[in-house]
Amino acid sequence: MRDIHSFARPDEIVVKHLALDLQVDFDAHRLSGSATLQIENRSGGRELVLDTNGLSVSRVTLDSGAAATFALGEEQRYLGRPLAIAVEPQTRSVTIHYASSPDAAAVQWLAPEQTAGGRQPFLFTQSQAILARTWVPCQDSPGVRMTYEATIRVPRGLLAVMSAENPTETSTDGVYHFRMPQPIPSYLLALAVGDLGFRSLGRNSGVYAEKPVVEKAAWELADTQRMIDAAEELYGPYRWGQYDILVLPPSFPFGGMENPRLTFATPTILAGDRSLVSLVAHELAHSWSGNLVTNATWNDFWLNEGFTVYFERRIMEAVFGRPYSEMLARLGMQDLEHSVEELGPESRDTHLLLDLTGRDPDEAANKLAYEKGYFLLRLIEETVGRAAFDAFLRDYFDRHAFQSMTTEELVAEMRGRLLSKHAGAEDRVRLDAWVHGPGIPSNVPRVKSDAFEKVEEQVKAFERGTAASRLQTTGWSTHEWIHFLRGLPKSLTVGQMRQLDDAFHFSASGNSEILHEWLMQSIQHEYEPAYDALEQFLLAQGRRKFLKPLYEKLAESEAGRSRASGIYAKARPTYHSVSRGTIDNILKWTP
Ligand SMILES: [Zn+2]
Repeated sequence: MRDIHSFARPDEIVVKHLALDLQVDFDAHRLSGSATLQIENRSGGRELVLDTNGLSVSRVTLDSGAAATFALGEEQRYLGRPLAIAVEPQTRSVTIHYASSPDAAAVQWLAPEQTAGGRQPFLFTQSQAILARTWVPCQDSPGVRMTYEATIRVPRGLLAVMSAENPTETSTDGVYHFRMPQPIPSYLLALAVGDLGFRSLGRNSGVYAEKPVVEKAAWELADTQRMIDAAEELYGPYRWGQYDILVLPPSFPFGGMENPRLTFATPTILAGDRSLVSLVAHELAHSWSGNLVTNATWNDFWLNEGFTVYFERRIMEAVFGRPYSEMLARLGMQDLEHSVEELGPESRDTHLLLDLTGRDPDEAANKLAYEKGYFLLRLIEETVGRAAFDAFLRDYFDRHAFQSMTTEELVAEMRGRLLSKHAGAEDRVRLDAWVHGPGIPSNVPRVKSDAFEKVEEQVKAFERGTAASRLQTTGWSTHEWIHFLRGLPKSLTVGQMRQLDDAFHFSASGNSEILHEWLMQSIQHEYEPAYDALEQFLLAQGRRKFLKPLYEKLAESEAGRSRASGIYAKARPTYHSVSRGTIDNILKWTP
């Protein structure tokens, strides 16, 4: 089976190991050096085809150093250019000497003023989905796994870390050696360089962050070791040795990225009250679903994300209790309903098994895979019982460890090993309607949250005229506040918005999730006093999950669109290419 997002032909010749030797040049915004690939030639083939995007290749050598003939093919939109290298059937290794482009999409170069420390530059990569090829020539498909090692040379005084065994101290010469002994797909290749510090969080966990942030991060993430222990209890051993989290500067476009051994995380989870750490449970859960058993192509994305959301909520339940994880599930249902509404209930993009033919997976793979996948797995759990489902999952992770999985294979396993053993389960679950059908099937599980029912009573009381300051909100968690804000009526007046702001100081909230919901309401109800906070928020961080809805909401009106353009002109240079691509689209921005 071919991956439509890769030029590689791993069925003929497959890469088994990568050895990188790269110099990090902060002045030129360039990574340069060599990548040596150990190959296995299954077919006696004479051409190795790799993925590249924006790489300049100076020469290619085989085994002991003989020069090889190579050619870069024609550029294709978002896929880049195939690199074809002539090999002999007995060739064992190929070395590519190359440099990345200064605008490589995977690599973000931050000037010192874009960091917390303000004195040193910072670099981080984001390879998922098909951006590894912008900094490493490789078979850039999630269906191909390789081990890797790397030598990374950085300016003295900076620390380099990778999705590998990591140093915890800055070296004197700026040279670092890395080893990743477990085979991983290319989208999990990751590198970050900066003025970083490290704190241990327990037996096999720790946190890296810029030095001024590292203490705060260690406090916020103190529950990490408990989460690892809970996860192992659920679905078997953590197979990657150490689990660390790297808290990045604010321009990181995602909440988290599950780079193995080293989750990359947004600093917007540092709320000061440990209320946003479900993100860590999510990225940790990827150490099983995604990193250990991997979607074979980006069409199978829900195998990574749906399983991970399910697993994340099970970890949260184990550590913080069922009422807590049920609040998360209710918010998830709201997200699911919202994405289905946005895409259209009959849209092909609401099937779990996607068809991304002709499209960039970064733009097309959406939130739906996460929550529709979660609710299918929850339905199966509720149908066959938790004990049977857990046994199935544990066995699934064991049998397929370090392999890729297609939707078709998974569905066959679910039928053969689970549903067929429980009378009537097949009919109750209706797998095909979920996997190959649109929207939210009618047998979707119901989530009941007593805590949220209390929140809904307070929303109603406010609607009926109770003053905001007299609402009963004592002890509310972040999730209850989010539910409250999402539930506010469309008919809210500016006066009511002001009353809420006076009572709860939403415009000044230091909690990114609460502030985001408030700003959405503020745009909706044209509540001007929040516009300074809105501009600040859009300038201060680059997380796409926050940026996209805010810019979209602004763009709904003429005045909002011009406000959005004004802010974006200032913010755009600080955003990651992934976020820029999304916002360019929304505002029809031509750089
Ligand atoms: Zn995920």
